[in-house]
Amino acid sequence: MEYDLVVIGCGAGGLSAAVAYAEEAGEDARIAVLERATREGRGGATRWTSSWFRITKDRQLDPAFIGMMEELGEGKADLDYCRTYASEVPATFDFLDRHGVPWVYFEQPFANRNTGGGLAMPVPGGVAIVDTLAAKVDSLPNAAIHYETEACALETDESGRVTGVHVRSPEGEQLLRAKAVVIACGGFEGAPDMLVEHLGPRGAEMPVIAPTLVNNRGDGIRLTAPLGGDVAGQFDMFHGEPVDTRTEKPDAVIYGYPFGIIVNRDCQRFFDEGQDSFDSTFEKLGYEIWANQDQQAWFIGEKAILDWPNVADIMLTDQPPVEGETLAELATALGLDPAALVATVDAYNAAIQPGETDRSIRDGKCTKGIEPPKSNWATPIASGPFIGYPMTAAITFTFGGIRSDKRARVLRKDGSAIPGLYAAGEVTGLYYKEYPAGTSVLRALTFGRIAAREAAAGA
Ligand SMILES: Cc1cc2nc3c(=O)[nH]c(=O)nc-3n(C[C@H](O)[C@H](O)[C@H](O)COP(=O)(O)OP(=O)(O)OC[C@H]3O[C@@H](n4cnc5c(N)ncnc54)[C@H](O)[C@@H]3O)c2cc1C
Repeated sequence: MEYDLVVIGCGAGGLSAAVAYAEEAGEDARIAVLERATREGRGGATRWTSSWFRITKDRQLDPAFIGMMEELGEGKADLDYCRTYASEVPATFDFLDRHGVPWVYFEQPFANRNTGGGLAMPVPGGVAIVDTLAAKVDSLPNAAIHYETEACALETDESGRVTGVHVRSPEGEQLLRAKAVVIACGGFEGAPDMLVEHLGPRGAEMPVIAPTLVNNRGDGIRLTAPLGGDVAGQFDMFHGEPVDTRTEKPDAVIYGYPFGIIVNRDCQRFFDEGQDSFDSTFEKLGYEIWANQDQQAWFIGEKAILDWPNVADIMLTDQPPVEGETLAELATALGLDPAALVATVDAYNAAIQPGETDRSIRDGKCTKGIEPPKSNWATPIASGPFIGYPMTAAITFTFGGIRSDKRARVLRKDGSAIPGLYAAGEVTGLYYKEYPAGTSVLRALTFGRIAAREAAAGA
C-alpha cells in the first residue's frame, strides 16, 4: 500500500502532523503513524510532561523568546525558524481547540520574565495531547497508529526524494511507501551510546526522567545522516532536572528548592538556590549536579515550608521527605555528616540579611559573606522539624538534532532541502546553552502542523 504520509513518532510533533495533514489533504488521506512503543507505552516525552506553554493571555508565545534565543545562541540559533514559530503559536491553540484538547491559562508571577503573562498547559498534562489527537487519528477511515513498529531507514528514489520508510515490527520488516515522510521521533536521551559520544564518558549516568524516553534513541540523526542530513543545536548540552532518588515516579522533581538550601555529599552548598524562580534555574541545577557533584545533592529545609502556599505542590515526588527533629538527626537519616551539615546551616543562617521575605516576587532577601550567596528568599533554617530530599539529575531531553527550516523541511549539509522529508519537535536541534522553559511541546505541535501543510502542498 502507498501512503500519502508516514509519520515517525507518536508524540506531540507526530500526532499534530498526522491530524493536521488530514485537515489539509482530506479526512480520507492514507496516513501511517509509527510508534516504537506499545499502545500503553505510546506518546514519548509528551505523555509524561506537564507541558507548560510559555505564552501570554492573548495566546502569543512569550515575546521575549526570540531575544533569548538570539542571546543564548550567539548567532547559531535559526531566528527565522523562531519567528515563524512565534507567529504560528496562536494558530496552534486554534488547532488544539478544534480537536478538543483541553487546556488552561493561568497567571504565574515569574513566567515570561520581563514581559508579563503567564503559562498554559493541557489538562491534565501532555497525556491529553496524546490521547485526544491519537483518538482523532483512530477515527479517520484510512489512518492508523502502528504500534511496536520502528523506522529503520528511509527509502529514496534516484533524484534523492524520500519515497518511503523501512520499518521493523513483530510481523517482520517491510517498506511503507509514502508521498511524504515526517520525522518526529524525539531526541537521543534514550541512546546511551550517543549520550557518551556527545556528553563524554559520564553521559550515560543519568536516569531518564520518564520511562518512555528510552524509545527516543536519536533515530532522526541515524535516518538522515545517510542522506547528507545536517544537524543543529548544542550536542553537548541537555535539559536535566533535580529529581528524588527514592522513587521510580516519572517527573519527581523537587521544584521547591528555592525555599531551603542544597548541599553536596560534603554538606557544602554549591548553588545559589534563590538566584531566580525554579523554572529559570532547574536546568542549571540539574547540569551542576551531574557535571560537578557526582550526581548527588540534598535539599535541606524547615518542614514548615511545606505549609507555605503552593510549596508542597511543587515537590513532585511521591515520597514523603526524610525528617529530623534536629539538623543532626536529619543529617544522620540522610547519610550525611551531622557536624558538617550543622556548620553549613549555621553559616547560612548567620549570613541572612534583614528584611521581609515575599515568595511571590524576587524579594532580594539575600545572604552576604558566604559563597555561593543565596540571592532571594533567604530565610533561616532554624526551627525543627527539618526535612530533606536526596536528589540526582535526570535527563529530560537533548538539545542537538537534525536541522530543519521554518517550513519544517529537513536540510542537507549544503543547505538544500531533502525532497519529501519534514521534521517536527525535539528531533530537530534548536537550543543552545539554555532552554527557555515551556517552549518545547508547543514547538513540536506548531512544526507538526507546518510539516503537514508543507507535505500536503508538496504532494
Ligand atoms: C517529565 C517531562 C517534563 C517536561 N516538561 C515540559 C514542559 O513543561 N513544557 C515543555 O514545553 N516541554 C516539556 N518537556 C519536553 C517535552 O515533553 C518534549 O520536548 C516534547 O514532548 C517532545 O515531543 P516530540 O513529539 O518531539 O517527541 P516525543 O513526545 O518524545 O515523541 C517521540 C515519539 O517517537 C517514537 N519513536 C522514537 N524513535 C522511533 C522510531 N525509530 N520509530 C518509531 N517511533 C519512534 C517514540 O516512541 C515517541 O512516541 C518535558 C519532558 C518530560 C519528559
